[in-house]
Amino acid sequence: MTTTTRPILLIHGGAGRAANPDRAAEIHAAVQRIVAEAWPALRAGGALEAVVEAVRRLEDDPRFNAGTGSKLQRDGAARLSASLMDGARERFSGVVNVEGLLNPIALCRGLLEDADRVLMGEGALARARELGLREGDVRTERALAAWRAAAEGQTGTVGAVAVDADGRLAAATSTGGRGFERVGRVSDSCTIAGNYATAAAAVSCTGVGEHIVDGGLAARLVGAVEAGRGLEQAADALIARMNTRGWEAGFIAVDRAGGFVARRTTEAMTWCARTDDGVFGSWSEDERG
Ligand code: ASP
Repeated sequence: MTTTTRPILLIHGGAGRAANPDRAAEIHAAVQRIVAEAWPALRAGGALEAVVEAVRRLEDDPRFNAGTGSKLQRDGAARLSASLMDGARERFSGVVNVEGLLNPIALCRGLLEDADRVLMGEGALARARELGLREGDVRTERALAAWRAAAEGQTGTVGAVAVDADGRLAAATSTGGRGFERVGRVSDSCTIAGNYATAAAAVSCTGVGEHIVDGGLAARLVGAVEAGRGLEQAADALIARMNTRGWEAGFIAVDRAGGFVARRTTEAMTWCARTDDGVFGSWSEDERG
């Protein structure tokens, strides 16, 4: 199949307050390493497998608020949420507040082929067991210390969007949540507000989940592209809306033609893009809304 699509893998490590310079450099190095490690999966398996691979690696890195190292809820438990969308099939799967699982995105990948594609809590864990996925305690000392201090801390949710050489798109997002939230709170990261993809565009969001849901950000941005707006123009319009409303969030997005954007209304957002031409990364101090 011949195509003009430029393959892209674009990942984020969360939006929020700016980190101190040492930690910022560490996180930046981590996203650059992970985008490079996941890049071969884009060639081998396409956009869907690439976003799963990138998010799985981000979940395994304790610096990020997803999988191992996730923030804890008000009662001290880590409950993880994630979602995955295959833009080519317009098919979505998600897990909501699951405990004891190391890689929620791997469960999303399994659920994508199921009849019941969004599962929560115990039921999600039961399906993960059937699929033979890795179980474990994702609470790190750092997360426990932040919880003891009752600190919501910096956000560090993770996500990935990709377009492959065949023009197929996919989006994946995974989080430990906002931190210190009420038990029962549902994150945007397991909804189409936080993660959405069609044949036109793929989007992953991070930031204050309630704001992301208020704005329906990921689905709204994809809808704008489908309505004929260019990705840049659609992102500009969304950022303007977010600023007007005071919605604190960021997003990464790719379109079918291989264009990409990384935008935010928060102080900082970690992201990194990889194309055939190399790796681009930024703390996006210069990319603000
Ligand atoms: N959006 C996530 C949530 O509210 C948090 C984040 O992105 O850091 O659950």
